[in-house]
Amino acid sequence: MTVARSFKTLDDMSDIAGKRVLVREDVNVPMADGVVTDDTRLRAAVQTVAELSDRGAKVIVLAHFGRPKGERNPEMSLALVTKPFEAVIGRPVRFIDDEYAAETIAKMTDGEIGILENTRFDPGEEKNAPETVERFAALGDLYVNDAFSAAHRAHASTEGLAHRLPAFAGRQMEAELDALDKALGNPEHPVAAVVGGAKVSTKLDVLKHLVAKVDHLIIGGGMANTFLAARGVNVGKSLCEHDLTGTAEEILDAADKANCIVHLPYDVVVAKEFAANPPSLRTCNVHEVAEDEMILDVGPAATEALGDVLKNCRTLVWNGPLGAFETPPFDTATMSLAHTVAALTKEGSLVSVAGGGDTVAALNQAGVADDMTFISTAGGAFLEWMEGKELPGVAALQH
Ligand code: ADP
Ligand code: MG
Repeated sequence: MTVARSFKTLDDMSDIAGKRVLVREDVNVPMADGVVTDDTRLRAAVQTVAELSDRGAKVIVLAHFGRPKGERNPEMSLALVTKPFEAVIGRPVRFIDDEYAAETIAKMTDGEIGILENTRFDPGEEKNAPETVERFAALGDLYVNDAFSAAHRAHASTEGLAHRLPAFAGRQMEAELDALDKALGNPEHPVAAVVGGAKVSTKLDVLKHLVAKVDHLIIGGGMANTFLAARGVNVGKSLCEHDLTGTAEEILDAADKANCIVHLPYDVVVAKEFAANPPSLRTCNVHEVAEDEMILDVGPAATEALGDVLKNCRTLVWNGPLGAFETPPFDTATMSLAHTVAALTKEGSLVSVAGGGDTVAALNQAGVADDMTFISTAGGAFLEWMEGKELPGVAALQH
């Protein structure tokens, strides 16, 4: 079933040959010694930029790079990203200096691609200042926002411009919004959410939003310890936010009222020291954790039970690893669940959407990143969406 979309896409753009199209991309790539060390974001920008170029538009990429705080900084010039982007897209890309932007763009031929200097060199960018919006708007006829990962910010290039020029979602933005809609907006039930990671405090709003939305809330990682403590379990010297046990109880109550089943681990992997394969490693029932032990992963019995829960679900949204997955063997539960999710997704029984820096790293470690329905690399924007917040950059496309 396709749901009518609340935003326009490249499919709604017609007669764009010769038009100047401003495309907001996220090309904020990590660099070391002038070399791009991870070109994921450049690759993700290719589809929209290439399509617009193929259709004869003059494509002007708008993007930020680093945090120059409204000042020119040659180390954060997008001139540094122009050649790497050219290599990734396999076509010529021109750098557009701010000071000669109008002249440079006037000389661009149909289908040509350029990258405008770092939008954050302008102090009005992050303030969404009207004069900055005007300066950008004067350079283009149409606006495409393809940077979901910047959509939680109401900046001139991410939000302001959408009110000033005809605005469209790029292919990446479109894919992200469709996937997120399938996961939590209009999902097929039963829906499960896995929330893990280190601390409850960083994900309170996520948990509060999810209990009202999903049928099964699976809590793992360090944050599960706070919930276990709230239920009277002695978690030894595990990472645990004891001051938040009251909040954890409120979340459990809210889940109860919303008919959301909360799954906490009933067996766990513990150790006395946090190190790879420590001699004190053992698996036990949550009620048997000793005073000097730490819970570092979900146990095998609970992990298997979680797999069974997912077998009966149609949709999964996943943020946060189940254990301290960077240190073996505390990656075991996360890897095992990742493989289960990948298999169910491949079978077609589960729509799986995952996001979060460490979650994506864990899924890559499991080698299943390509088997998920959708992986969001959007970081902050993904979390705000998980919290049920309206993202200004998305809302501006929907008006
Ligand atoms: P994401 O980046 O996907 O949103 P988080 O940053 O919230 O995820 O959490 C990831 C971190 O949580 C990892 O560094 C992992 O080691 C840690 N973690 C998971 N389980 C535990 C645990 N039981 N004790 C301590 N740290 C944990
Ligand atoms: Mg993280």
